[in-house]
Amino acid sequence: MSDDTPRLAPRLAPRLAHGDRLVLASHNPGKLAEFAAMLAEHGVTLVSAADLDLPEPEETEDSFTGNARLKAHAAAGASGLPALADDSGFCVEALDGAPGIFSARWAGPARDFGVAMQRVHDDLQASGSDDAHAWFVSVLCLAFPDGRDVVFEGRINGQFVWPPRGTGGHGYDPVFVPNGEARSFAEMLESEKNAISHRARAFAQFRDACLPAQ
Ligand code: IMP
Repeated sequence: MSDDTPRLAPRLAPRLAHGDRLVLASHNPGKLAEFAAMLAEHGVTLVSAADLDLPEPEETEDSFTGNARLKAHAAAGASGLPALADDSGFCVEALDGAPGIFSARWAGPARDFGVAMQRVHDDLQASGSDDAHAWFVSVLCLAFPDGRDVVFEGRINGQFVWPPRGTGGHGYDPVFVPNGEARSFAEMLESEKNAISHRARAFAQFRDACLPAQ
């Protein structure tokens, strides 16, 4: 499933109905809880890929969109239900968008984001660039068992900061300050981050196009 495969324009996306079941194409319990809460108020029930014993496909594409589509289609095909997948990451301009789709992998098998953030800093130093422009991306894909899909992308721009600031959040949150803000994502309340984040922006587009009206 590459980025070039035709997909539906968001305005043509089929809308889910009250009572529909939707598979979340992720085995991550944190993501399940987050999406279940966002979907519950729309009357859509979320089922996890783990509950259905679906295999976890390897993320072999070279873009967020490609990987989100790959995961969503694998889950929709295997379950016979519509499936939602997300793929996200942290990108640094002076590193040509790295770590990007490798954001999780830079933390290594121990999922140590101290190591990942240090690598971003070291690579920036080595690049000789003083351009700290960075952003987070979240791509959501809703795929149907008949092969149709629709994709939504949310992005938030800001600056890479060093040293890391704050103790909240997860992943690269301590080294990212959104444009127009003085605090890093890790220094914000979860609710403050969730109001402006890349994931919230992608989800708002998905909600408007695909979820039943409340
Ligand atoms: P995914 O589960 O394949 O989408 O991996 C996303 C990776 O991107 C995570 O492991 C984090 O490293 C990073 N990431 C995505 N969103 C955020 C965020 O909101 N804050 C911090 N790191 C994030």
